Amino acid sequence: MGTSMKGSDSPDTNPPPAPPCGQGGGTLGDRLQRLIEASGPISVADYMALANAHYYASRDPFGRGGDFTTAPEISQMFGELVGLCLADAWDRAGRPAGAHYVELGPGRGTLAEDALRAMRAAGLEPPVELVETSPLLRRAQAQRVPRARWHDALDSLPSDGPLLVVANEFFDALPARQLVAAPDGWRERRVAVEEDRFVPRAGPPFPAGSLPESVRGAPQGTVVEASPASLGIVRLLAQRLARQGGIALIVDYGHARTSAGETLQAVRNHAYADPWVEPGESDLTVHVDFEALAAAALGEGVRAFGPAPQGVWLGRLGIVERSAALAAAAPRRRIEIEGARDRLTAPEQMGSLFKVLALAAAQWPDPAGFE
Ligand code: SAH
Repeated sequence: MGTSMKGSDSPDTNPPPAPPCGQGGGTLGDRLQRLIEASGPISVADYMALANAHYYASRDPFGRGGDFTTAPEISQMFGELVGLCLADAWDRAGRPAGAHYVELGPGRGTLAEDALRAMRAAGLEPPVELVETSPLLRRAQAQRVPRARWHDALDSLPSDGPLLVVANEFFDALPARQLVAAPDGWRERRVAVEEDRFVPRAGPPFPAGSLPESVRGAPQGTVVEASPASLGIVRLLAQRLARQGGIALIVDYGHARTSAGETLQAVRNHAYADPWVEPGESDLTVHVDFEALAAAALGEGVRAFGPAPQGVWLGRLGIVERSAALAAAAPRRRIEIEGARDRLTAPEQMGSLFKVLALAAAQWPDPAGFE
């Protein structure tokens, strides 16, 4: 974060210096600092929303040269098995006409490309609807999925025909509130500026009755996170599935049960960074509360499956067989393919922390991998 504008109360007769990088007033950190100094501390959810909107709009963060690597960027097997799971459910639903492939937060479009190829082999070639806010990532997606259509949010998705939906590492990037158990009761954390630094501070009182019962009695100092933005999106998604038919696969890292604890983290250049330093320059995430997502979906009349550990789920869908087939076709790549399979499935790597929650319309079959 840059220097403060505090104390400059005499009129400035000189034209302002040109802002660096054409950003109209410095970095996001500078602008957030001025906002907080002018109007007071902001919620952690607003801080996270502003930081991530800037982050994803200003770079392609994936892979070795970026900040982090996601499952579809590790191996084509991930997207292929997601595509097969969607195509299999569609097949057992009686191959209904007019189905759409929908992806939330498609990153580079790699998962969509791999899933659509696997679906095509299974006789399914749906129109593609991508929900993505970053113009820069939309361009990357267009290179891999040129026939896609883009949406800022779920409400403009087609309202006829079943939806075959996937969201990988989408919900973890959505804004979360932080509630903290203060000596006088629960309070919502606000981000303040002190000595030119962003610092989280206990803010206004928060009604304990709005917290899940399992965490209400947590000891002083405990932080509980909640993402109303995520619940809102899951509700909209579930309403669409209930009305139009279809299934959704939600893959992310997080906990199967609502639990207390601070999980907000920043990742930059493949290492953990301080979430309160240089907002918008690192990826801010929280662990996904799968219990809360499933409950929100059940409330809209769809069925929920899992969450299953990602490693177990990929195993049930045949990742061992798929990696063996790929290695047989390209023997010189065997070690790389087996390494990617292990990275996706081993419990100490992505196999356990990452989980898969499926939602299905009432009349649709149970999705594969959750038995
Ligand atoms: N699914 C991809 C990318 C995950 S990163 C993968 O697995 O590689 C998160 C993605 O969600 C990015 O594409 C980001 O631009 C997008 N995103 C983040 N917040 C969003 C929002 N509020 N609405 C739509 N897309 C969002």
